[in-house]
Amino acid sequence: MPAVSCRKGSHLSLNPLMALPSQPGSLSARSFVFEPAPELDPATLEHRWQHVNVIIRLAMLTGSQMQLEPSLKLLCELAYEIVPYSAARVYFWNEVEEAMELRLKRGIIKAEQHSATGRGSSLNFWAGQFAKPLIIRKGLDSVADAELSAANAHAALVIPLFVRGRVLGSMQLFSHNIDAFKPGDAQLLWTLALVADNLLTREQTNEGLLRFAFTDYLTGLRTRGYFEQQLELEFKRSERKETGFALLMVDIDYFKQLNDRYGHHVGDKVLREVTALLAADMREVDTVARYGGEEFVIVLPETSDIEAIYVGQRLRKAVHQARFHAEGGGAGEQLTISIGIAMYPRDAQSRRGLIEAADAALYAAKKRGRNQVLTYSQIMQDEQRHKEVS
Ligand code: GH3
Ligand code: MG
Ligand code: MG
Repeated sequence: MPAVSCRKGSHLSLNPLMALPSQPGSLSARSFVFEPAPELDPATLEHRWQHVNVIIRLAMLTGSQMQLEPSLKLLCELAYEIVPYSAARVYFWNEVEEAMELRLKRGIIKAEQHSATGRGSSLNFWAGQFAKPLIIRKGLDSVADAELSAANAHAALVIPLFVRGRVLGSMQLFSHNIDAFKPGDAQLLWTLALVADNLLTREQTNEGLLRFAFTDYLTGLRTRGYFEQQLELEFKRSERKETGFALLMVDIDYFKQLNDRYGHHVGDKVLREVTALLAADMREVDTVARYGGEEFVIVLPETSDIEAIYVGQRLRKAVHQARFHAEGGGAGEQLTISIGIAMYPRDAQSRRGLIEAADAALYAAKKRGRNQVLTYSQIMQDEQRHKEVS
């Protein structure tokens, strides 16, 4: 099958229905997001003082030693005092399993299919993605509708749960009444969740938190912070052992076009699929991390440039051969990646220098047409040759 022509400005072919906002399932989850104010306004303080008292009651408890499950149960009970609901459930991160877990359920909610990425329900995933409350109404998004149906509900209010400012779960309230959840409720429960941060923090071991902090929420890969630590360790190890290692910088080609055509939600899904391809078949010692956006870094310890090129080409081919589905059927879209490789100690002797060298090679791969793997030494050799000719 011929490769999709991916020149800037060209369009990926797609089912035109998917781009129309009026179609079910096409509305971005972002439109459910409620932007909370930094503090409660005077009207809320005056008219909903009983509800504000609920938050103060929780604040008084945050110094006490409570187990996680009772803490989450208490949160659900306090939430009910603020806004009654017909069903509720809470997802929270499980340190040991390294997965989102359904911790609490009130009322009848049918077991939903867990997403393949291990992040619990879509509502929980969105809570983590946006780190803001979501007010969800039936009839606007097919994914949200499926979640509402499972709870036999017409509306939901999703509140992210934080530990030290990081989303580690969500409280999801459901109602039969489509107008049950108002912005004022979202604001109050948001404040409740911020106060609960202190309570939930006690439940987290430092080790577990550290692991979580180094996991990119969207892709499940290691974070940039983790990568930078590993790179430093790798420098020290390589110096000690007098060996070399490879740094690969990977960037998806024309990813913005895919987002523009299909929306961010599909973009995110594709990002996870590409990620799975990058992480497959790596050795235990290798580090695959998300550097930012649609850019990834890979550290291959004790690896020669020939081996690094081999790995780079394997990844490039795997992505090129894969098909990415925007929604269900269809033949799927083709995507490509470009890869820049830098070798320690040959190309640079500092962390910054090595990253810059890999980045320069990646930039050259983009300039030369994308869907290719280039090493820093190749581009230096080419430049040298160019100088000699001219
Ligand atoms: P190039 O071939 O030059 O790399 O083109 P590009 O479109 O991939 O590059 P550009 O840097 O112009 O755009 C990167 C796009 O990646 C912009 C943004 O829409 C998208 N992106 C970055 N992070 C995310 C993310 O977390 N989710 C989604 N869906 N898109 C993202
Ligand atoms: Mg790109
Ligand atoms: Mg990029």
